[in-house]
Amino acid sequence: MSAVKIFLRNDDVNNLDAELLEFWRIVCENRACADMAVEPANVVAETVSWLRELKQNHPDQISIITHGYDHVDKVPGMGEFGGRTYEDQIKDVRAGRELMDKNFGDDFFAAFTCPRGGHNQATIRCMDETGYKVFSSYHNVYAKNKILYGVGHLLRRTHLLGKRVSHHMQRIPGSGLMDISMSMSLIKRYFSDDDCEFPTLDYLKERLDRIRATGQTVIGVTVHHRYHRRPEHMQLIADALRMFRDEGCEFSTLERLYKELT
Ligand SMILES: [Zn+2]
Repeated sequence: MSAVKIFLRNDDVNNLDAELLEFWRIVCENRACADMAVEPANVVAETVSWLRELKQNHPDQISIITHGYDHVDKVPGMGEFGGRTYEDQIKDVRAGRELMDKNFGDDFFAAFTCPRGGHNQATIRCMDETGYKVFSSYHNVYAKNKILYGVGHLLRRTHLLGKRVSHHMQRIPGSGLMDISMSMSLIKRYFSDDDCEFPTLDYLKERLDRIRATGQTVIGVTVHHRYHRRPEHMQLIADALRMFRDEGCEFSTLERLYKELT
């Protein structure tokens, strides 16, 4: 049986703050990989230079991807893209894509992830039309979703009864996009923009076991570096990476996974 592949998608990359630097240090120390999901309208010049240098020095260990446009909920409670029309979304998706190309050039990998996950069928059309290759959202393999996903796959749908149908590690119907989505998170519950509950290492290990038991071989782990302000919460990232390695998992990036799929 081939090893489970883990990729870490670190969202909300904008300022070059201490938490972002420490997150990358931990990734390197553990010989792991990271997808840096950049907010196109909010990323500052020093973060752009820093990321481009990392990509040049560690091409297989990092991919630089897009996280929405400006990370502002346009429809309250629905994330940046949920509840919006195609005409409304395409402007932001196009503007974000132009900024990513301008700032990162060839160091950018065309994967897209939506702030707070909110999106609809029109978002997928917008990503497809602006040349994105990968859409990374959420993939939950447990019982309830299994039926939803099964019916959605048969009907070739991206949404069903108002819920997202994951096509993890497959092409999204009606588009050229590959779906490579997240199944775990290093945050258990979000309370606000700067407060959350962290899981224990045992909880993460249990979750890994449950996902592996379903036969899933590529597992995305969401990280939000900015919440890990206290040393013990930063330590959780290091402990989780060590646990994944001890469990025989290998690390990869969205860019590498995409290349292997196509
Ligand atoms: Zn975000």
